[in-house]
Amino acid sequence: MAAMTAAHTELKKGDVILQVRNLVKHFPVRLGLIQALRTKVPPVLKAVDNVSFDVYKGEIFGVVGESGCGKTTLARTILRLTDATSGSAILEGTDIMSLSPPEMKKLRKKMQVIFQDPYESMNPRMDVQTIISEPLRIQGIVRSVHEARDIVARVLADVEMLPPEEYMTRYPHELSGGQRQRVAVARALSVDPDFIVADEPVSMLDVSIRGEVLNLMLELSRSRGVTFIYITHDLATARHVCDRIAVMYLGKMVELGTADEVIGNPLHPYTQALIGAVFVPDPRHRGFADILKGEIPSPVNPPSGCRLHPRCPYAIDRCKAEEPEFRTFEGTHQAACHLVGQFGKS
Ligand code: SF4
Repeated sequence: MAAMTAAHTELKKGDVILQVRNLVKHFPVRLGLIQALRTKVPPVLKAVDNVSFDVYKGEIFGVVGESGCGKTTLARTILRLTDATSGSAILEGTDIMSLSPPEMKKLRKKMQVIFQDPYESMNPRMDVQTIISEPLRIQGIVRSVHEARDIVARVLADVEMLPPEEYMTRYPHELSGGQRQRVAVARALSVDPDFIVADEPVSMLDVSIRGEVLNLMLELSRSRGVTFIYITHDLATARHVCDRIAVMYLGKMVELGTADEVIGNPLHPYTQALIGAVFVPDPRHRGFADILKGEIPSPVNPPSGCRLHPRCPYAIDRCKAEEPEFRTFEGTHQAACHLVGQFGKS
């Protein structure tokens, strides 16, 4: 991976672009007839459970966690691709959760998404020019084919697909995986959004080209001030590109801070375990599986108190009974654990 690293710029409180407050997304669990008749309270899957955070203008905000931790549901809920159970997500003064469908359509221009599989998210029968100009047409941003073509050429140049004319007439199957993901980024950029959610944008790409796409995100956040929410299971790539990182476990945010704070001085046992699994090459060092006991529990029936307590080597009785508050420790570094500072790092 190239040597470029995140800017980790001084981010001021006043620069907030998105405020997420107490966001909850529960899904009803389907039961068989007999089970349904026997059940007094229908079970729900608690995918996102009371999550709050701010995203600053121009930053790359990473949301990291294992598969099933709720990070993709969090992103889909913020984008209103699924409705929240409760809570708010305020984008520059507008609560996304309270908008009617026509108001939502207008706001879509401000928030774009890049999916994990660029091939799946593109119509194979459309050429690159049509794919990129589609959101321009849907949003009514352009009045002529010429105007659309100019914007397509500009955003293709922004994602370093040069000369743009050479790529406009190609179809998705004529592009490499990395080029397809660049087209996905160009399509997101075409409507000049305020922020882009990138959901595992490199996990399906060859390792050799992941760095290219991540560096492109970095470059766009620096040169054009585009804000990214980067959803990933991969702490190593998050460290590479993110200004700040939030760590999720079983629907809850357990740690949040600058990339340097979270990776260099993890406060939460879950983050310590993740880092131990990724960054410690010494096989004698305790890895993720050794630090945390057992499997991740079901989000349908999550543990009481701190959700990590059945797996946490430091758990005490209080952890079973009382959910830890999300507290600020040093600087902007926050974590939800009763015992921060009272146990040794793994
Ligand atoms: Fe472990 Fe208790 Fe901290 Fe949860 S609150 S992470 S169980 S020590």
